[in-house]
Amino acid sequence: MPSAFSDDIAIDLGTANTLVHVVGRGVIIDEPSVVAVVQRGGSREVLGVGLKAKAIVARRPPERVELIRPMRDGVIADFIATEEMLRQFIMRAKSMLGFRRPRILIGVPAGATPVERRAVYETAISAGARKVYLLEEPVAAAIGAGLPIDNPDAFMVVDVGGGTTDIAVLAEGNVVQARSLRIAGNAMDEAIMRHVRRKYHLIIGEANAERLKMEAGTAVAQPNGQQVEIRIKGRDLRIDRPMEAVLTPADMAEALAVPIAEMGEFIRRGLEDLPAPVTDDVIRQGIVLTGGGAMLDRLDVALQRNVGVKFMVPPTPMHCVIRGSAAVLESLDTREHLLIGP
Ligand code: ADP
Ligand code: MG
Repeated sequence: MPSAFSDDIAIDLGTANTLVHVVGRGVIIDEPSVVAVVQRGGSREVLGVGLKAKAIVARRPPERVELIRPMRDGVIADFIATEEMLRQFIMRAKSMLGFRRPRILIGVPAGATPVERRAVYETAISAGARKVYLLEEPVAAAIGAGLPIDNPDAFMVVDVGGGTTDIAVLAEGNVVQARSLRIAGNAMDEAIMRHVRRKYHLIIGEANAERLKMEAGTAVAQPNGQQVEIRIKGRDLRIDRPMEAVLTPADMAEALAVPIAEMGEFIRRGLEDLPAPVTDDVIRQGIVLTGGGAMLDRLDVALQRNVGVKFMVPPTPMHCVIRGSAAVLESLDTREHLLIGP
């Protein structure tokens, strides 16, 4: 049992979202991975992180305040901004924990290089950790999805985040294959923007495209499904004026087919490169989809058609990595072998 005075924290440092779980309390932070900065006399000052950063940028005139995404493709792209973001999140968690510097377990992409792992480790130390443990994200995702990772049978997890789709094949608690594709949620947003521009001559922003995807996106339009109308506003290319268009679910599926086909091909190649008995295990057990992208309506169906293997989406796929990280942190004595070095 976690003690009431635990000072252990698990962090899912994602390209799109960062989640913080305090042992004994649960998830206390689930916010976008963004930092608001302002340039002042040649130096950069951080005004806020996460939701607060978004609110600041929405309130202020945009000339000098900038919203930075410090993570790109699953790894740290801006060290100083990442450190500040972590520091502020850790400070908030610490205000619930007392005065001790916390022990922190943090996920890194399975394909991360030693330099990238070291960067996460050092950044967490600078941001105030007493001790830092690293865990590969797909291992965390698998545990968080409730998979029996110690079984000899191999299985595959596909995590669809903002910047990358990460594949991991695990057997007996070990990562057998790990790879990463730079096509995921953001690429879906871009595909929607492209489709709307080509078919309706309408320019829409990335944030709008993402909202459209989350509210009305689908990977497979149902032939007999309701023909819901999706109204969008944008700028008409031809007359340079605000205009409205009406999209159908078929439009969404058509737009998203391109990035989904690329994800499918990436997964098929991954399967082909496995030893035959491992491939057989994965085909028999199916593939588990996690990450925010797994919430796209019928993504599992589209990938199943594309790859020819059954796909499953666990409940709250966006929380699998943090749930699994917290589970490992809460049972370090039996799960320590899963940790990796910086
Ligand atoms: P990361 O680990 O890279 O931070 P997340 O696992 O938090 O990423 O997932 C973020 C991605 O999931 C974003 O691209 C977001 O648009 C997408 N997403 C979230 N909810 C949905 C939804 N309901 N439908 C489709 N995509 C979604
Ligand atoms: Mg993630």
